[in-house]
Amino acid sequence: MSSGVFRARWVRLTRPPVGLAPERRRSYQIFIHVYLFAIATHLAFIPVFVALDVVALMLLNLTCIAANVLAIVLHRQGQRTAALFIKLGMVSALVVLSGMLLGGETGCEYFFFVILFEVLISDLAHRLKLLFGGLVISLILASEHLLFGSLGSWPYSELSRELLFSLNVVATFVLFMFIVLQVYTITEVTERRFRTDATHDSLTGVLNRRAIFEKAEGCWQAAQPFALLLLDADHFKSINDNHGHSAGDEVLRHLAQLLGRTLREDDFIGRVGGEEFLVLLPEASMDEALSVAGRLRNELASCPCRLESLALSVTLSMGLALSNEGDKLRDVIDLADRRLYLAKSSGRDRLLAQGGENQGEQVGEGVTARLLQGVPTKDNA
Ligand code: GH3
Ligand code: MG
Ligand code: MG
Repeated sequence: MSSGVFRARWVRLTRPPVGLAPERRRSYQIFIHVYLFAIATHLAFIPVFVALDVVALMLLNLTCIAANVLAIVLHRQGQRTAALFIKLGMVSALVVLSGMLLGGETGCEYFFFVILFEVLISDLAHRLKLLFGGLVISLILASEHLLFGSLGSWPYSELSRELLFSLNVVATFVLFMFIVLQVYTITEVTERRFRTDATHDSLTGVLNRRAIFEKAEGCWQAAQPFALLLLDADHFKSINDNHGHSAGDEVLRHLAQLLGRTLREDDFIGRVGGEEFLVLLPEASMDEALSVAGRLRNELASCPCRLESLALSVTLSMGLALSNEGDKLRDVIDLADRRLYLAKSSGRDRLLAQGGENQGEQVGEGVTARLLQGVPTKDNA
């Protein structure tokens, strides 16, 4: 089997079933990995039991493999407590029986530690964990003091016992390391996904409203100068009305992609409303911000959103404000917002970088003129 096919099968096997509650997904993934790794470990021990000629342990080892397979099936069906009990019950039986047949100090007793650890990282109820933990500890004590060696003692050389002891120690530590690494990796991936979900807009992939305002707040707190470009798609409702909501969604995605490739590396884009985006341009002067807006306008004009046979063009109205134009961040945002409003009311498809200082201000001749000439286009850039 090629590594690509193996990887695809592995991913399919370890992927949580559709419909599994999000809070159960992490535990599910950890446990499926642990079951699979346990199967591999049991397989590795079969030749050892064959060499030692202990048929009972070999059979029990095979039963443990079957128990792990059953646990995977049960866990996939949502019966995680039953799965864990079956699997851990079998391993406990294997450890206890090997101790009874071969005596203590073979290192098998270390597996109790792995069992306890598995119980503690599971998503079983807290009370059940404590109960199960108490049971495992009692089993350890009973095995060590009462059961180990009751059916026999080590029949081979001291060297072979030491070898088995080393093998068990290595297997226990490798299992332990594997489980901890799985927990860490899956927790990390889950946390990253949740963090991304919490800060990004699911439709366009740009920052969401809260995250972009936090970025702006960060710049403001650090006294880092910046420009804010607030933009709104013109007559966007008519795209939805004429071509459907999903075509509108595509145009929004297209717009976000276009913004992404037009802006500088250190700039941030956020979706702050339905068809409204806020662009944060750290360290940008008025001229730089105007040039960014001009590039954006050109890109948008030359790259309409293509949907099958359709080419959907959209224009933007924009309001631009610099951080030094307000005493508070809120003032700067409000200024950009008023300029956007003025850009709309003065005809749309334009950027306003002046005016709007007073509430309810109408767009005057000078402001509009400054605006349209201020944005470089393909012709005047
Ligand atoms: P204006 O030029 O004045 O901005 O006109 P407009 O049509 O763009 O603005 P209006 O506020 O009248 O309509 C905004 C539209 O954007 C209405 C709403 O259905 C649509 N919209 C908001 N969010 C989404 C979205 O996530 N997907 C889609 N497809 N449409 C959206
Ligand atoms: Mg609009
Ligand atoms: Mg709007």
